[in-house]
Amino acid sequence: MQRTADSTTSLRIAIQKSGRLTDKTIDLLKGIGLRFDDYKRNLLVKCRNFDVELLLIRDDDIPEYVQDGVCDLGFVGANETQEKGADVTVLRGLDYGICRLSLAARKNGDIQSIQDFEGKSIATSYPNLTRNFFGKRDINAEIVTISGAVEIAPRLEVADAICDLVSTGNTLKANGLEELETILESETQLIRTNKELSSGKKQLIEKFLQRMDGHQQAERSRYIMMNAPEEAVPKIKEIIPSLKSPTVMPLADNGMVAVHTVIPIDEFWVVMEKLKAEGASGIVILPIESMIL
Ligand code: ATP
Ligand code: ZN
Repeated sequence: MQRTADSTTSLRIAIQKSGRLTDKTIDLLKGIGLRFDDYKRNLLVKCRNFDVELLLIRDDDIPEYVQDGVCDLGFVGANETQEKGADVTVLRGLDYGICRLSLAARKNGDIQSIQDFEGKSIATSYPNLTRNFFGKRDINAEIVTISGAVEIAPRLEVADAICDLVSTGNTLKANGLEELETILESETQLIRTNKELSSGKKQLIEKFLQRMDGHQQAERSRYIMMNAPEEAVPKIKEIIPSLKSPTVMPLADNGMVAVHTVIPIDEFWVVMEKLKAEGASGIVILPIESMIL
């Protein structure tokens, strides 16, 4: 892979072709206004309204493609980037594809703690991360690399234990396994090549990040409108954790005002209850498309 990322002018972004990250990544790209033709049937898809093309590949290949500059950016789990030891820059952490890489062994079996792994075999698709973990603890464990269905390895007596990705833990339970230790917490990340890029591409990345940040901020916020007695405005201002001062407009009814502002979604219910207690009524909440601060 000798091609540099700069031999095209479009920003080339690697995403998972088909799997757990695909829909969320496509939704995110659509959410920031990018439009694509049929991405399900093609490997390389041009964006219709932004200078971007998507390369759809296996998630395992994404860190190396970005490292080598075949792609400028990539959306991939931290688990893959760290397993490959890829030389890339993490631009953003994203709140999907959340999982952990954990050690698990038979429930009530002879492996109950980390020390019990001495001399045992561990099936995993993450040999480097697993080896590093035990190396640091001076424990000799045999790593058996397998590429899928890791959770059935102990039952098939392929290995004594496993090191695999877990989200709910249901798959482990269904296979009679018990989670013993997390060796890595993972989330989807936006990674960037460390190869030198043209100023045109750098500008495109800045624009892309600005859109992503605006979209993420908007997803975490709501536009709120309410009516309130004029004398309650100072209290309302104290209650609302606003980005900036709220808009206050007089209403036809004497002594009443309309208050418009933006609030973080996390504080939504608490703020709502407090506002009602101060006499706010007709409270309307709207989603926000994007926010440029
Ligand atoms: P590919 O064919 O692209 O190699 P895959 O089978 O390796 O696909 P998926 O199962 O689609 O990959 O998982 C993709 C990524 O989703 C993982 O690398 C990880 O970052 C994340 N993920 C989140 N939760 C889980 C989970 N419970 N099990 C596996 N992966 C998870
Ligand atoms: Zn994979």
